[in-house]
Amino acid sequence: MSGNIEYKTTAQMRVMAQAGLVVEKALAAAKAAAVVGASTFDVDTAAAKAIAEGGATSNFLGYHGFPASCCVSINDEVVHGIPGTRVIEDGDVISIDCGAIIDGWHGDSAVTFIVGTPKSDRDIELVEETRRSLFAGIAALATASRLGEVSAAVEDVADAAGLYPLEGYVGHGIGTAMHQPPDVLNYRTRSRGVKVRPGMCLAIEPMLVIGTGDSNILADDWTVISADGSRAAHWEHSIAIHEAGIWVLTASDGGAGGLAEFGVVPTPIP
Ligand code: MG
Ligand code: MG
Repeated sequence: MSGNIEYKTTAQMRVMAQAGLVVEKALAAAKAAAVVGASTFDVDTAAAKAIAEGGATSNFLGYHGFPASCCVSINDEVVHGIPGTRVIEDGDVISIDCGAIIDGWHGDSAVTFIVGTPKSDRDIELVEETRRSLFAGIAALATASRLGEVSAAVEDVADAAGLYPLEGYVGHGIGTAMHQPPDVLNYRTRSRGVKVRPGMCLAIEPMLVIGTGDSNILADDWTVISADGSRAAHWEHSIAIHEAGIWVLTASDGGAGGLAEFGVVPTPIP
């Protein structure tokens, strides 16, 4: 997505942080509902309830006709899975992507976890290294002059773990719409990327696959599956870049827990 970047005031970022905290709660509720024997519809119901209780509305519901408040993607489903009758099984790798709006300002975040007993150590690595690649990207953002530095940091963690960024799917700016310029890639290109400036709010979202970065879309026109059937993970946060530093809008600790290993301390929005 190209075009003008929407730069936010600190007051606007504070509203985005409110939306972000509702997303955090919705993801926690959705994760708690994702137990063996539950349906993905049950997961969506929990997310929708938490969004409503937070005084927010869903930005997923109705987005280009999307029928639910979150995406639930299991195993070889990488992103955009539609909640429905599918029943969660022991060892499933579950990605939940959710968003919320408060006063017109959007939040967007995703988590991946294993339900019950992991099927393999590789599944555990997949989930953990995808999470680390997200925080490596966020940490890079704290000092980046160009957005390409974030993409490189994500790619380096993926590379070291032998995981492949899903091709053709990227992170994005976020603000008065869920998806805005600029694109936030999970891999290097020839471009150094746009300049990183205070006022930007970005959703960084590595989507990493065990097999290759190739994918197909199911007949439901939404669900993205890995082309070779291998498992995938997806982690996402919305982050504000303000005059004094960065702050993860979709985490009540501002990202401090995930950023610690990278030596970055988030700065609250003034
Ligand atoms: Mg998302
Ligand atoms: Mg997103």
